[in-house]
Amino acid sequence: MKELIGLSKEELSAELTALGEKSFRTKQLWHWLYHKGETDFDKMTSLSKEFRARLKACYTVTHPSIVTEQTSQDGTRKWLVSFADGKQVECVYIPEADRGAVCISTQVGCAQGCRFCHTGTQKMMRNLTAGEIVGQFMTARDSYGEWPTPTDETRYLSNIVVMGMGEPLYNFDNLKTALKILMDGDGIGISKRKITVSTAGMADRIPELADLGVKLAVSLHAPNDTLRSQIMPINRKYPLEKLMAACRAYQERSERRQFITMEYVMLKGVNDTPEHARQLMSLVNGLEVKFNLIPFHYWDGAPFQPSDADTIRRFAKMLEDKWFAAPIRRSRGEDIMAACGQLKSLKGTDTFKVE
Ligand code: SF4
Repeated sequence: MKELIGLSKEELSAELTALGEKSFRTKQLWHWLYHKGETDFDKMTSLSKEFRARLKACYTVTHPSIVTEQTSQDGTRKWLVSFADGKQVECVYIPEADRGAVCISTQVGCAQGCRFCHTGTQKMMRNLTAGEIVGQFMTARDSYGEWPTPTDETRYLSNIVVMGMGEPLYNFDNLKTALKILMDGDGIGISKRKITVSTAGMADRIPELADLGVKLAVSLHAPNDTLRSQIMPINRKYPLEKLMAACRAYQERSERRQFITMEYVMLKGVNDTPEHARQLMSLVNGLEVKFNLIPFHYWDGAPFQPSDADTIRRFAKMLEDKWFAAPIRRSRGEDIMAACGQLKSLKGTDTFKVE
């Protein structure tokens, strides 16, 4: 039995052609899968009984199953979801007043080992398939009962941030297929302007994100190579000069010079001095950027402490005085370990300690 979730529209069309179906069936089935979120062929009532029987004999439609669901005091919701082979990842919904972002994962574990990141202490097990990436968003919609009906098209799960477990650009082909499915107007239909992909700095792939039209966030976290290589090993392969060149290429290729969000986690006594702020501003010279200052979220065994609130405010002010947007990110979901850098789907022996 083949899984349908995660096939591109072209692949789905090829499957149906092989079954002897006409091409308009692709759009009909796509609508059931991705607009209505239906997983039961018997309920796809606009399809003929014979067609449904053939689909049932050959295919499955599966959303990742929820192992645990936790809701924070601030409304943030985190799921531990499981796939067909039992592998698990975490994903999170961060609600705002009338909208919200679903943060999805792209790998089980992560090979990058960024030292401030809890996920980085969980060994890399495998890439997620396109269906497993899309499926996290579908499971989030299931949890909120948010599939549109003829009388209710309201969408609170309005945005997607690819900032969960794993480095998305090391799973690029599956990420691309997943994003195209999520953006497709006949199905889920999330606008490209409401999707942000975050990378630790895999420079080779960054410019291609401009072709997809999605927004780019860079986990920057240090303003010079010496410090960045210490806290983010990926910097040894893709030092700042390469990373900034890739960011410039992204901006030149993107429509209307899309601004880039530079994520900067504030680590006490490590990257939070006035000199670091000055280096940061000179590093991004010539780019349209917005900084996002992230209070460090402590996890058990973390080798860093969070910067003081005053230090973060002074750092932000230095950037703002030079006309950079530098909001301090409000922590969300910290009480359920759902905040930025806290996700992890394994405990104990399948984890390793980052030196
Ligand atoms: S910050 Fe991202 S790339 Fe770095 S270890 Fe965490 S999940 Fe991996």
